[in-house]
Amino acid sequence: MNLSQGRRYLAIPGPSVMPDRVLSAMHRAAPNIYEGPLHDLTARIMADLRRVARTSAHVAIYIVNGHGAWEAANANLFSRGDRALVASTGQFGLSWANSVRRMGVEVEFLDFGRSAKADAGRIEAALRADRGGRIKAVLLTHTDTASTVRNDVAEVRAAIDAAGHPALLAVDCIASMGCDPFLMDEWGVDVAVAASQKGLMVPPGLGFVWFSDKALAACKGSDLRTPYWDWEPRAFAEEYWQHFCGTAPTHHLFGLGEALTMILDEEGLSNVWARHERLARAVWAAVDAWGTGGDIALNVAAPDQRGTSVTAVRFGGGAGGRLRRWSEEVAGVTLGIPLGMAHSNEPAYGDYLRIGHMGHVNAHMVLGVLSVIEAGMKALQVAHGAGALDAATAMIAGA
Ligand SMILES: *Cc1c(COP(=O)(O)O)cnc(C)c1O
Repeated sequence: MNLSQGRRYLAIPGPSVMPDRVLSAMHRAAPNIYEGPLHDLTARIMADLRRVARTSAHVAIYIVNGHGAWEAANANLFSRGDRALVASTGQFGLSWANSVRRMGVEVEFLDFGRSAKADAGRIEAALRADRGGRIKAVLLTHTDTASTVRNDVAEVRAAIDAAGHPALLAVDCIASMGCDPFLMDEWGVDVAVAASQKGLMVPPGLGFVWFSDKALAACKGSDLRTPYWDWEPRAFAEEYWQHFCGTAPTHHLFGLGEALTMILDEEGLSNVWARHERLARAVWAAVDAWGTGGDIALNVAAPDQRGTSVTAVRFGGGAGGRLRRWSEEVAGVTLGIPLGMAHSNEPAYGDYLRIGHMGHVNAHMVLGVLSVIEAGMKALQVAHGAGALDAATAMIAGA
């Protein structure tokens, strides 16, 4: 029996589901790039990008994916031989560390494992030990999309301040922007990095780097900067082409403009955050119930250390891999692979799956995914506790 015909659902942590309105906004002839509506749209997008990060900081837009956005931030933050303190809570801290190291920056790597937030006390201690003040920036992942750990950004800022260290705080918000609350100014973040294809509901291809006045001043002489990556002309363009160091990503901008309207002007950012939290809690309630009768568990035990855009779940005995295949082939739902979770002292690769619930996602989509996973467990005879859908629907009902 195959039940996968109908609209397929890509329930992975990016690229995420794109609203039809975003796709339609992109479906048009090439626009005039020299003057006119595209210029007005770009100005509006730059203002809206500040609103979505809750900041009055500067913003630069790049034609890149998330890896490219990291390199954009690195190139502006650092000079060759500078030092970065990287706090890792999964795969993405490690990857950002590798990217900045390859660019000639010394990395001090703090590994906080894969299922709990970074310990701000250890970050403070590392900064206190840096008597020469060589650490230029602390690199932190807000939500690590592999482990689905969410870090406490304000706590890390407080640790930097408590150490009396001038290091800048740079945060990877690629999986959290437009999903989890992120208050760049209130939390004292100097540099934030995001991309278009997750909570912002646009195809992969745009990266964003926000930077404070403090970061602008502290990074003036950074020698890793080349013309294409320099954030200053992009943020402070005197001529339109400088925003993109060349041709504008025209169609992505039309899509992004529509997405930002939906997030900021229609649903409202606080409501978007609240929706993600409620939907995430429905997923967590279901997994907890499954775990009462089987070898199934959320990867992150503490609810306040979980991102609300994606959930990593461990299914013992390789059931994660079998469930992913069944969901895709039989039920039309594609679930996320267990990125970076296969380490020698940890369960096998096939034991994890990730459920993406970021961006254009509603109650029926999340309940559908949970039901499909439960059906898969029945079909594949994976032992699990009862009552998961009751628990999830009660959470959705607000009961
Ligand atoms: C997705 C993601 C990245 C990488 O983005 P790509 O577009 O795949 O290069 C980096 N960091 C985080 C937190 C992410 O979620």
